[in-house]
Amino acid sequence: MSVLVYTESENGKFKKNAFEVASYAKVVASQLGTSAIALTFNVQDDEILGEYGISKVLKVSNDQLATFSARAFADTISQAVEKEKAKVVIVSSSADTKFMAPILAAKLKAGYVPNVVASPENTEPFTVKRTAFSNKGFAHTQINTDIKIVGVSNNAFGQHKNKVAIEIEDFNPNIDDSSFSVKSVEVDKVVGKATIADADIVVSGGRGLKGPENWGMIEELAEVLGAATACSKPVSDMGWRPHGEHVGQTGKPVASNLYIAIGISGAIQHLAGVSASKTKVVINTDPEAPFFRAADYGIVGDAFEVVPKLIEKLKDF
Ligand code: FAD
Repeated sequence: MSVLVYTESENGKFKKNAFEVASYAKVVASQLGTSAIALTFNVQDDEILGEYGISKVLKVSNDQLATFSARAFADTISQAVEKEKAKVVIVSSSADTKFMAPILAAKLKAGYVPNVVASPENTEPFTVKRTAFSNKGFAHTQINTDIKIVGVSNNAFGQHKNKVAIEIEDFNPNIDDSSFSVKSVEVDKVVGKATIADADIVVSGGRGLKGPENWGMIEELAEVLGAATACSKPVSDMGWRPHGEHVGQTGKPVASNLYIAIGISGAIQHLAGVSASKTKVVINTDPEAPFFRAADYGIVGDAFEVVPKLIEKLKDF
């Protein structure tokens, strides 16, 4: 019996959430008195997982799996689960994984719970805490199946070093790509220094910025902070910004350490997707804007005055 963790990667490098899920897997393995095994896809620096408590890596090096495909990845993970007799599978709660994990759950006849924010409260019965009702509450959910799949929220559990000796084993899954295959992937243009999913800081603009010509200061603030840029739904609907930047209930979820909302009112659908961020700062001319009630820090003021001053100050650091 073991705990298997699927680690996400891109261009041969682990994504930030790979270290979070690895840390989580180590904690679950310790609770169950077993070891944590990672499955990696076409990664060069597998050894680094040893620093997060992973004692064995099943290393897949296969060009057919160079591009994410939910079905092929679910197939591969299920073969790894079978090989290692894993009873708990840890994955992230990224958009790709949320697409793939239900397929994996069906294959393994496993219960799957995404958006988990803390280590299991109990292993018998296996109980996890997850966000519910668009991040407005928490649910304590029991998984009663023999195999359990836990989807850990980005940025919720954190990365925890716990160095152990690591063994790397090549793993060659049987890939059946006869049903469909991914021909190409179009990657969103990334403005700023990070993608929304991986960013520690997100700078987000709303309709209060009046038009696309005013986004220079948003991009400059993001550049100074090493942040990703995002926007509210109407902003992308009007074509001021690319759809890949739309965050909220119907856009990308944000769980950054710092979320700066500029000229965004804080409608419930916007807050639903960004409220998992740890610290929220709001800049808005209207002191009654609903976002102030959800914010940790607020500046009542005109973005066109406040943001340039903020950039100037930050450049002094
Ligand atoms: P507004 O509501 O127009 O707010 C603009 C704000 O800017 C105001 O608070 C104003 O005081 C402030 N402002 C104006 N001038 C300045 C200035 N100079 N400096 C500083 N502040 C200024 N929205 C999302 O964002 N994401 C979603 O995923 C989403 N999903 C939706 C799903 C459904 C089913 C529905 C019905 C709606 C959804 N919406 C979503 C839309 C949502 O309800 C709001 O309409 C939207 O979030 C408002 O965008 P906004 O805050 O940019 O614009």
